Amino acid sequence: MNSFYHSTRGTSESVTSKQAILAGIAPDGGLYVADWVGEKKLDLAAVCAQGFQKTAEDVLGALLPDFSADEVAACVAAAYGDQWDTPACCPVTKLGDDWLLELYHGPTSAFKDVALQMLPQLMGVARKDEAADGKKIMIVTATSGDTGKAALAGFAGVDGCGVTVFYPEGKVSDIQYLQMATQAGDNVAVCAVRGNFDDCQTEVKHIFADRELAARLAEEGIVLSSANSINVGRLAPQVTYYFDSYAQLVRAGAVELGDEVEFVVPTGNFGDVLAGYYAKRMGLPVKRLVVASNENDVLTDFLTTGTYNRLRPFNKTISPSMDILVSSNLERMLYYFCDGDCELVASLMSDLAEKGSYTVPADVLARIQGVFACGRADDDETRAEIRRTWEELGVLIDPHTAVAKAVLDREQASGCARVVLSTASPYKFSADVLAALGVVVDGMNGFACMDALEAKTGTVAPAQLSGLRAAEVLHETVADRQKMGAFIESSCARVFL
Ligand SMILES: *Cc1c(COP(=O)(O)O)cnc(C)c1O
Repeated sequence: MNSFYHSTRGTSESVTSKQAILAGIAPDGGLYVADWVGEKKLDLAAVCAQGFQKTAEDVLGALLPDFSADEVAACVAAAYGDQWDTPACCPVTKLGDDWLLELYHGPTSAFKDVALQMLPQLMGVARKDEAADGKKIMIVTATSGDTGKAALAGFAGVDGCGVTVFYPEGKVSDIQYLQMATQAGDNVAVCAVRGNFDDCQTEVKHIFADRELAARLAEEGIVLSSANSINVGRLAPQVTYYFDSYAQLVRAGAVELGDEVEFVVPTGNFGDVLAGYYAKRMGLPVKRLVVASNENDVLTDFLTTGTYNRLRPFNKTISPSMDILVSSNLERMLYYFCDGDCELVASLMSDLAEKGSYTVPADVLARIQGVFACGRADDDETRAEIRRTWEELGVLIDPHTAVAKAVLDREQASGCARVVLSTASPYKFSADVLAALGVVVDGMNGFACMDALEAKTGTVAPAQLSGLRAAEVLHETVADRQKMGAFIESSCARVFL
């Protein structure tokens, strides 16, 4: 058994997990995968007897074998400490006859924290590797709202790393604006850009392709990198909460050690649900993984017919983090279900790029369907589900979680314990949640909606959101798109030199 990663599209280049984490994407455009995932199973009885942090150490130790046990332990201590509002990090609570896995107790109140609190720690260790030569890393990301804050919070204060976030001026919610504009830390930079999200993203791509800029930064020992959701260092940490939630169910007496469970996952880029598949390979008794989509139901169609077709209208929904037409992490799943046939994966991906669609062979589809079920819910169903879940079960859920709950409600009971992954605090989407509960929110700002949601439900907004009211705005730069490169250079100089 080797311990290397290679691209989904070819095996010629092998890299360590540290190299894969620093590189993000493979040079041929594929995603880094390892064939040995699951050859060694986690000890389930041990997992059930320990807490989230120890399980995180076991999971990361298994998936990132070139990290020493001490390195992993230090990363876990830094990523899963008291920046979480509960020591359990990702608690499981009751949802009627089913269960809710709450992934939103981190610093930005959404599930991306699980990965983005850990990735910077892993990068901080990997950059000290001999081959990486102690390079300084500037993370650059364009955000339409949520990921930017999670990246800022994760990289703030991490030695040898910096983070620069661009967002479209006036096009993020007032709360999202404050989350970013008030971010403290000597190594963070935030810039509003005149234009829309696509402008920001296109310019970031240009910046990554700018060889002259790269050469100037290289002279100072600086490299630009992204914190993309296809990074191995984001995927691996997400496996932890599948194992840990199972442990919580066993301790609650909901399942016996070894019983199968089902997970329903609100899905966008397919990273979250793919981590569930990794957990299954690594020995977790997962009966099925249910992929829940909103009106952008490209995955529902794919998992039903075997044809993935991105040529379709893009719908803006009330679950925006699932508004995605190309689910990039799906490529890893294809790799495993094609039995590691890199040529086939490469040809499917070139069909997707050139023709806009691809179809997997029937036997591959059948195997995928043996593990992954699917379902979709539109905005009206999502709102109705938020209301029903509150009124009938007394549980307040956000629109992303509600998509998954709506899909669960249509599934026939399978006789095993069912867990809905809850990916954001309802207070991140106060206006839509309030409206779903029947309150008229026209003209109310983000804080007024938060207050009204507290008053209506008797629940309490997370302190990191309500506390924004009093936080000091630290970042006020607004720039034209053409100035984004210069902004990065000046933030590199400020952070590193
Ligand atoms: C990112 C995100 C998702 C989708 O997760 P993927 O890993 O991209 O499938 C769902 N809900 C919320 C709130 C998110 O931020």
